[in-house]
Amino acid sequence: MRVPFVDLKAQYASIQTEIDSAISEVIAETAFIGGRRIDAFEAVFAEAIGAEHCIGVGNGTDAIYIVLKMLGLGPGDEVITVANSWISTSETITQTGARPVFVDIDPHYNIDVSQIEAKITKKTKAIVPVHLYGQPADMGPLMAIAEKYGLLVVEDCAQAHLASYDGKNVGTIGNAGTFSFYPGKNLGAYGDAGGIVTSDAALAEKCKRFARHGALKKHEHTVEGINSRLDGIQAAILHAKLPHLHEWTEQRQQRARRYTDLLSGVSGVTTPDLASNRSHVFHLYVIRCDRRDELREYLSQHGVSTGIHYPTPLPLLPAYDYLGHSESDFPRASEWRSKILSLPMYPELADQNIEYVVGHIEQFLSS
Ligand SMILES: *Cc1c(COP(=O)(O)O)cnc(C)c1O
Repeated sequence: MRVPFVDLKAQYASIQTEIDSAISEVIAETAFIGGRRIDAFEAVFAEAIGAEHCIGVGNGTDAIYIVLKMLGLGPGDEVITVANSWISTSETITQTGARPVFVDIDPHYNIDVSQIEAKITKKTKAIVPVHLYGQPADMGPLMAIAEKYGLLVVEDCAQAHLASYDGKNVGTIGNAGTFSFYPGKNLGAYGDAGGIVTSDAALAEKCKRFARHGALKKHEHTVEGINSRLDGIQAAILHAKLPHLHEWTEQRQQRARRYTDLLSGVSGVTTPDLASNRSHVFHLYVIRCDRRDELREYLSQHGVSTGIHYPTPLPLLPAYDYLGHSESDFPRASEWRSKILSLPMYPELADQNIEYVVGHIEQFLSS
């Protein structure tokens, strides 16, 4: 048996007619850039998340950069973020001219909120929490700190479409939320795409203008901006997929429960710890195992693809050598980097696949 890490073909097969007709309509109308499909998707996505505004942009990385820049971050500022994420989270802070300040992870793989205050200086302007793997960061105490120190909060929701904290969808808790619609994300386009959500009308307008060369109307460039657009084909695909997202999310959650049930009897594996006031949308199902590398190799030999998210904590990447950090600055992220393993996870993952994966984990650990 082969168990892929994600299976985008299975999802396409299940909605092929809807996708194909969405794409051919855009081509027939040659509505490649701009137009009603962009507005329509922005409106339904904002509604799905529970935000007033959504601005479609070129990708999830631009989404973070645009919001940070439009919130006024720049040289001399510091932005607090988390040690374990995809590099978009921190490289966009640097792109504005600000400096990333990293905080270790908590037992849910998110920013350890209890360590934020110690990192705040006179230069600190914002916090960028990441809802990693699909489980929200601890936003209650995080927002209390932000309020106390007057800090902006931008939520990186790239892995957490429809995840919620105390009943509020992620992306609606801070000043703005940023989403990626990269093909493998929980809501994925057929190419690059991203979105910004906010209920701050002035911020929404600024982001929209900046992403479109500084012009809300053609040729009326009130400022300089960048070119970061959600294109017509991607908007049509995302619009066709959005009505399925609730069901896909439930399927991910059901698959995750199945993994956890089956793995609960296996010693040597730690399954994801779910916080009670949050919903986890399982973009990734991540376990920890002391013999991770050997286990990964064993699974690969038996046709099971896995991933590591991420092999190196951000502050320990060569890109951040200039910050002069060592593993002891981020003890949990440093210890867990060699233990985390992402198992196959997607809505169409069959029960027999899950049993096969867990069966081989068990076999390996008892050898
Ligand atoms: C995928 C991802 C991004 C970036 O999204 P792109 O659309 O690939 O630019 C940002 N942050 C996190 C945590 C991600 O997983």
